[in-house]
Amino acid sequence: MTGVLASGAKAAGAVGLVIEDGAFVIEGGCSVLGLDPAPGTLDTFADRLAPGDRAVLDRVRSGEACDTRLRLIGADGKVRYARLIGRGEPGAWRGLLIPAGASPEGGVARIDLETALKAAVETGEVTAFHQPIVDLKSRKLAGFEALARWIRPDGDVMGPDEFLPLAAEQGLTRTLGEAVRTSAARDAAAWRAAGGAQTLFVAANATAGEICAPGFADSLVQAVEAAGLPANRFKLEVNETEVMADPNAAETALKTLKAAGFSLAIDDFGTGYSSLSRLDRFPFDSVKIDQYFIRAALADAAARAIVKSVVSIARSYAMTIVAEGVETEEAAALCTDLGCDFGQGFRFARALRPEDAAEAVRSGLEGRFDPPA
Ligand code: C2E
Ligand code: CA
Ligand code: CA
Repeated sequence: MTGVLASGAKAAGAVGLVIEDGAFVIEGGCSVLGLDPAPGTLDTFADRLAPGDRAVLDRVRSGEACDTRLRLIGADGKVRYARLIGRGEPGAWRGLLIPAGASPEGGVARIDLETALKAAVETGEVTAFHQPIVDLKSRKLAGFEALARWIRPDGDVMGPDEFLPLAAEQGLTRTLGEAVRTSAARDAAAWRAAGGAQTLFVAANATAGEICAPGFADSLVQAVEAAGLPANRFKLEVNETEVMADPNAAETALKTLKAAGFSLAIDDFGTGYSSLSRLDRFPFDSVKIDQYFIRAALADAAARAIVKSVVSIARSYAMTIVAEGVETEEAAALCTDLGCDFGQGFRFARALRPEDAAEAVRSGLEGRFDPPA
């Protein structure tokens, strides 16, 4: 064994890891790391790693060198940190697992969550809730934004801030996004079929990474068509800053969707540094002003002036304007005065369960879905 590996071998509790032809062998005492010494296939070794760390096995499989920190799940179910150092060639890799610190705080809970998330996405536990978007002049329901929610087996509902980062770490963003967009299109098709207004739209989100991936636009067109929803009733929301990350790929995908009849919205406008004119190359037809600006506009004349100028520029591009984070009647009135077309926020309703959204389509929002005090 050469330099790094030989010196690492002196670390207390280090074990050798030998990988050959898709099988692994652990050399040395495994007790400090809580590992079961029995050899197995590389896939069974994956079960000993936190799901978020399993991508390292692709590198090992391809024979790449690595020096990385991992979370190992011991035979006792406890989580321990280890450093994995090694190198090799495809099919033949040698390395060392070196204990690298105590169990992470809440480690088991998090790993349970990581393990559960993949299954949850596959079995439909992650689905779309729908937040009403209201026409500010008539105060009628105009559409919904589909927002990801994870309905846990115990009935708890988890919001995206708690699981989207985990989904990204595990490479599940696209699968999860597709599940939410497909639920959104199916629910919207069902509202129409049940006699809901034919003008209702449903909006859903995608990250720049998803949009720029090959085949994104075509598969979204197919999913919406298969759900039985006319393309012009589906609106895709893309974050303002994200779209600039790979503008050429984003432009191609967005133009394909536009040509298929989809609506496109710039999400969270105002949080990045773009001007609407910089976004002119993309075929957006609406802009969503970030809730930060709506809140600031309530308190501050300068912020009101910014919102007003966004509204007037958006108008000149024939875009409609949605105000986000409308929490009070005062905010709703201000957004109407500033010229926004639509409002979305707790003043009208939070994201509703699909059955409550269907009820809102049937009977309207008034007095039914107001936020709890
Ligand atoms: P977003 O697209 O800006 O969605 C609006 C967020 O603002 C939602 O949070 C919504 O519940 C919250 N919100 C709505 N009205 C109000 C209000 O009056 N006051 C306040 N304080 N908040 C309000 P949520 O559901 O937690 O979603 C957070 C973010 O997660 C979303 O922000 C979106 O960026 C992302 N997200 C949600 N679902 C998906 C998805 O399916 N795919 C992707 N890629 N991202 C998603
Ligand atoms: Ca959004
Ligand atoms: Ca937003």
